[in-house]
Amino acid sequence: MGFRLSSKDYAEYLRLAAAKIHENGDYVTALDSATGDGDHWSNINMGFEKIVEEIGELEKMSLFDEFKKIGMIMMSVIGGSSGVLYGSAYMGAAKVLKDKEFIDNQAMCDVLAAMLEAIMTRGNAQPGFKTMIDCLHPAVMCYKDCIAQGLPEMETLSLVKKAAVDGAMSTANMEAVRGRACYQANKGVGHLDPGAVTMSYQIETLMDYISSSL
Ligand code: ADP
Ligand code: MG
Repeated sequence: MGFRLSSKDYAEYLRLAAAKIHENGDYVTALDSATGDGDHWSNINMGFEKIVEEIGELEKMSLFDEFKKIGMIMMSVIGGSSGVLYGSAYMGAAKVLKDKEFIDNQAMCDVLAAMLEAIMTRGNAQPGFKTMIDCLHPAVMCYKDCIAQGLPEMETLSLVKKAAVDGAMSTANMEAVRGRACYQANKGVGHLDPGAVTMSYQIETLMDYISSSL
């Protein structure tokens, strides 16, 4: 049988993601100082700290309520563009989880696809605009491909993780069309997008966490 994440499992993943974000503070702040206003890490780290404070509540909820609550926390605590975008992402993903007790392989793909759609709609952005989408979009495309090909879950999770990390790295060569980097003279070329990097931390941590349960 494949993996099945409960709301408690997802809460455990959030704890690991919070730690991963926490330990990369100087690096992400340097990235956002190069092309943005330097607050991306402190914004997102504050959001994840608040989520960790609420984990006792979150892990007892249904997946639907858990995701809605995460979305509300992210929207209100993170602030900036990424707060609104992550808030919308989690609200969008909650709808996929209505009445579900577990997230299995197909549902995980659907959750990430719903997050992508919500972020693209809310931010009016496309792949290639040098944003967090350039991490999430290749990850979702890869996930859908792996399912269509019937690949084993272990291999799928590892390929999705690689697609996310490679996607984040690909932002270095992109000219920004959205986000503060588009106000720079060279549109941020030569620098990684900080939002794509923090998105890759989350997807990487999620894929590793699920793999460790298989
Ligand atoms: P702000 O730009 O308001 O200071 P943050 O610093 O919290 O927001 O987040 C910046 C990140 O948000 C960027 O690195 C980029 O990945 C992402 N981002 C900004 N605008 C958009 C958008 N319209 N669509 C998708 N992602 C975006
Ligand atoms: Mg910022």
